[in-house]
Amino acid sequence: MSIRVTKFGGTSLASAEQFRKVKDIIMSHPDRRYVVASAPGKRFSEDIKVTDLLNSSFRLAASGEDFHPVLQKIHDRFFDILTELEILDFPLDEEIEIIAAHLGTSPNADYLASRGEYLNSKILARFLGYTFVDPAGLILFDDNGNLDSTATRNKLGSRLSEVERAVVAGFYGSYYDGTVKTFSRGGSDITGSLVAMSVKADIYENWTDVSGMLAADPRIVEDPAPIEYISYQELRELSYMGASVLHEDAVFPVRESGIPINIRNTNRPEDPGTMIMAKLKPEMSRNTVTGIAGKKGFSIIQIEKALMNNEIGYVAKLLGILAKYEISFDHVPTGIDTVSVVVDTDTLQPVKREVIHEIFTELEPDTLFVENGISLIAVVGLGMIRTKGVAARTLKAISDADINIRMLDQGSSELNIILGVNDNDYEKAIRSIYHELWS
Ligand code: ASP
Repeated sequence: MSIRVTKFGGTSLASAEQFRKVKDIIMSHPDRRYVVASAPGKRFSEDIKVTDLLNSSFRLAASGEDFHPVLQKIHDRFFDILTELEILDFPLDEEIEIIAAHLGTSPNADYLASRGEYLNSKILARFLGYTFVDPAGLILFDDNGNLDSTATRNKLGSRLSEVERAVVAGFYGSYYDGTVKTFSRGGSDITGSLVAMSVKADIYENWTDVSGMLAADPRIVEDPAPIEYISYQELRELSYMGASVLHEDAVFPVRESGIPINIRNTNRPEDPGTMIMAKLKPEMSRNTVTGIAGKKGFSIIQIEKALMNNEIGYVAKLLGILAKYEISFDHVPTGIDTVSVVVDTDTLQPVKREVIHEIFTELEPDTLFVENGISLIAVVGLGMIRTKGVAARTLKAISDADINIRMLDQGSSELNIILGVNDNDYEKAIRSIYHELWS
């Protein structure tokens, strides 16, 4: 029998109505044996996520203020779900009492943040008739707070092999001594990936509130095409540039095990969503280019020096100076006697004077110029390797839109083309590239 691991995000489990949709999805396929649940998210845009309420209760308790009103709100969110689902014998008051008692001692931030997933998963397990599995003691972190993936695979895998169908609480695990530790925000995606890895799932379904990834940001491009298939490599390029549907760290466990991820929409289960896999077959890519994404807020450090080309180690020294100030670089386009380094403006700004001074004294450039207000745009697609002219069409679209290109970089893998434009031209550039490459 094949196994599907299904992870449901916060909006998918924000209310009783959403719980019913989730149950229908799970029950519609017998392979959906292991479920990972987030805490209740927002039901409407001004609503507050249960995780945020828990974090506020921690802050109030830690500063000696009254946390009871916030705890009451948390109670009410779960109470409403339980009542509407007609689960009347769930020990909610006792569970909330345990949290209150913890808040009254010296509270632990991670433990509190994890209680949303803990309670929601217990309720979902009851609703489905599945076994509840607490990931503390199964998803393990070492003393430095890093995930111990080998121990996790063993512990989680062996526990789940004992249960036919289970709901595992998302977002947390524990140190070896059992103290709860959470992942960073959105971390239930990682739990889902770890469960999929540990039970050797055939597929990891990540159910959320959108029908997968889109080829461009819908706030910039009207009605962009959905991405049906995308490789892990392309996903990484696009997520790095801000087009994210998944927690960044969620990819590694399943990628290592060759398990595909399917992003699906709980509110539109009939949509196929996006399939993320290691290798795409040629017929899977409908477009040569898979997606465009971008980010504002970069600076270009431009350096010129006559005969730079003859000076071995010049660029290495430059990058060494940046490393000393803990500035990571995004791109380093070079010419014969020029080099530019693209860095994040917010990281550079606080140490800019020192960095420039050091470059001047160590590298004696003829000119050095820092330009802020740069946006980077990545045009990503494995299909570019096989197709001529994508770069030409991209550049033509930009020049037809009367936009000046400040930087250009094409990785040797031909997986992406990176363009730098002024922040003011960012949206216009994305729209013109999209219309050129997708119409
Ligand atoms: N509930 C946590 C958050 O809001 C984790 C998650 O939903 O993945 O970030």
